[in-house]
Amino acid sequence: MSSYQYRSRNVEETAFLAQQLAGLFGPGTVITLDGDLGAGKTTFSQAVGRALGVKETVNSPTFTIIKEYRGETLPFYHMDVYRLSAEEADELGLDEYFYGSGVTLVEWGSLIEELLPESRLEIRIEHAGEQERIFRLQPHGEPYRKWCGKLKENGL
Ligand code: ADP
Ligand code: MG
Repeated sequence: MSSYQYRSRNVEETAFLAQQLAGLFGPGTVITLDGDLGAGKTTFSQAVGRALGVKETVNSPTFTIIKEYRGETLPFYHMDVYRLSAEEADELGLDEYFYGSGVTLVEWGSLIEELLPESRLEIRIEHAGEQERIFRLQPHGEPYRKWCGKLKENGL
């Protein structure tokens, strides 16, 4: 199974996708999120936080760049690399997160593509109406290809 598409008609359906994906997460899971301002990258990330049992409020990490949360199941690393130059990103030592024991979500991940692990799930979110969004999932690596197959099996 290569790419996979999901149509969300509202915030709840975006949260549902996040929940379904969260059931597949493990240590070292890396997901990138791209899409215009207001597409739903942070909204999706907040739903992932809830699915992981994070008790704190998950905020947009635009200014903090990286925020670490303790989930019930796995640590959750939430990044927004929009304001970072490739050089600055390089100096942050992102591999410690990517190859660590938690789940990493990178808003605007495509901007630091050369620093991302080869194995990752790329998600592009497009506006399709006021509340409608298209999520395009592009797996890189076998585990994420299997994920996309599972989503389809589950009738998403
Ligand atoms: P980004 O992080 O991509 O800039 P945000 O998640 O901050 O986007 O903002 C998305 C906005 O769109 C929120 O105000 C959210 O309530 C709204 N929204 C409306 N419909 C949806 C949907 N189907 N999925 C996600 N967000 C939606
Ligand atoms: Mg955001």
